[in-house]
Amino acid sequence: MAIRKIRYEGDPILNKRAKEVKEVTPRIKTLIGDMFDTMYEANGCGLAGPQVGILKRICVIDVGEGQKVFINPEIIETSGEQTGDEGCLSVPGKVGTVTRPNYVKARAYNENMELVEIEGTELFARAMCHEFEHLDGHLYTERVEGELRDAVYEEEDEEE
Ligand code: ZN
Repeated sequence: MAIRKIRYEGDPILNKRAKEVKEVTPRIKTLIGDMFDTMYEANGCGLAGPQVGILKRICVIDVGEGQKVFINPEIIETSGEQTGDEGCLSVPGKVGTVTRPNYVKARAYNENMELVEIEGTELFARAMCHEFEHLDGHLYTERVEGELRDAVYEEEDEEE
């Protein structure tokens, strides 16, 4: 396992369409492990292949409900709406308000190349929308309502 270099906004790879994965090779298994490591190291809850310079349709998400791997994902159902702050490891230190569906059902292959359906609400639904868009070369900054803002991190020690 290894930490990979995260690509930042302005890197042209983030605007390219990633390619379908046909088979999960040992290299791809290593990539998936590295993507989780890289995401946790950066305190993120999702990461897509292009963000580490790999133009393959692979995303990893962990919003506190366990590790989820998405290969060649597609959204098959959405409902509701949520409006809230969103950030991206490729746009560090910034947040912006984005409206997303509140419920998302996706179909994707898992790390064993089995076709699965995964559904989620709230943050998990938001993360799926956000990560899948990376695979088509889009960043959330295109959807931000109003201005991008500087992220404000809560102080860990607020004792008086
Ligand atoms: Zn992102």
